[in-house]
Amino acid sequence: MPSVQQSTRRRSSATPSTKSSLKSKVALESSSVERPPLDVCAEINHRIRSNETLRAPRFDFAHHVRHRSYVFRLMDFGEEECSTFLDAGVDALLPDRSRMASSSNPLKPNFDIRESKGKGLGMFARRELYDGEVILQEHPVVVSPYLIGLSMPLADIYADLFKRLSRPAYSELMALSKSSCPSLKDASVYESIMRANALGVALNVPNVDHAELAIHRGIFLKTSRCNHSCGPNAKWDWDMNTFSLTLTAVRTIAKGQEITIPYIAPDLPGAARRASIQQQYGFECQCYHCTYKLEEDFNHSDMARESLRRAWSSDCKLPSFEKWCTEPAYPDDLLINAYKRSLHLIEAEGLEVLDLGPGEHPERDVGRYKDALAMCYGALEDTENFRIWIARVRDGRMTKKPTQSLAFNKWLSNPSSFPVWGWRRAVCGGGDANGIHGLSAIEKMLDCI
Ligand SMILES: [Zn+2]
Repeated sequence: MPSVQQSTRRRSSATPSTKSSLKSKVALESSSVERPPLDVCAEINHRIRSNETLRAPRFDFAHHVRHRSYVFRLMDFGEEECSTFLDAGVDALLPDRSRMASSSNPLKPNFDIRESKGKGLGMFARRELYDGEVILQEHPVVVSPYLIGLSMPLADIYADLFKRLSRPAYSELMALSKSSCPSLKDASVYESIMRANALGVALNVPNVDHAELAIHRGIFLKTSRCNHSCGPNAKWDWDMNTFSLTLTAVRTIAKGQEITIPYIAPDLPGAARRASIQQQYGFECQCYHCTYKLEEDFNHSDMARESLRRAWSSDCKLPSFEKWCTEPAYPDDLLINAYKRSLHLIEAEGLEVLDLGPGEHPERDVGRYKDALAMCYGALEDTENFRIWIARVRDGRMTKKPTQSLAFNKWLSNPSSFPVWGWRRAVCGGGDANGIHGLSAIEKMLDCI
């Protein structure tokens, strides 16, 4: 494997004006490149190619290491700083520094970091947090490639990466949890912290052969305190343009309740989730969904998640709202029952986190289910149920779009003013057959008002 040819420069101290430009290059010379052992290549190739998150089905480790040249950098975000060790091509594509503004967090945090029983420290809501509320924005403190193609020990690279930070940031980083993974029992404390706390963040990679993997390991000092749950109440989104993460509540979080995120795909069956957590992080999941008393509760949870996977698959053939309105052969409650069941399963299993936002997997959009139920009851002229669901839709949007409340209040007081009121009763309208995907949602109606 390539080796480091030029020693790196360490920072003893840095003023803010020099921090953002501080950079030292670790150069690799092609003459020094040796082919990694075949068994090592085969093992790494299998691991990378089979990892769906990495999206690198043709990854070739032997070629990968020959094309690497790394750069250290220290970025300054005012209150935060970030030490990076990146492929030179990726480093060159980092977004403009002006876009990487300081995180805009409220002066008074809406969370506390304190002891979580049996889990070390955790993050807790200081007050009630509403569904969709931003809990915090944060820049990473450390970013490194998912896989480092150097022959020097990872411990040395991570030590160098960590020690470039100022003393307070370094101390905070070193205080994060260490991995309890058996495979890392002989690893350095730096590697252990990386493995236990890093989140997968995507960076721009050059469009060249054997480019760096887009997914990198990023550590966030505050978000790293969020413990895992298989029914998490918060999600995190990475924005590579601002080089920051946003932590958001995905349902109402009561004051004092622990804020949790998923470390692994939460829609997997229970046994697979627990095995994955054990293998990747070295702990036994103690979340609500993994500590039922009765075997039948585990089975019930697995069936619920499987049922949701089926409902979200392309095999699920529900008619669109428009088609249901115009086709008398469909039962009145066809869509209502299907949407209610999905909503019930999402809420019971705590899978609101799988709603990825506008445009992405619309079939998992919790808000769209609620919209659809209000629309179905409206189309059926069922005043009582329409009022229940349109009020829920309104309440879910109030914090994000308070100006829309006027329209919702108008529909509540006068349901017949709702744009699709009585559509199914009148057997009118037309449309596509894409189920909830093609639903003319309430958003469209609001645009027309
Ligand atoms: Zn769990």
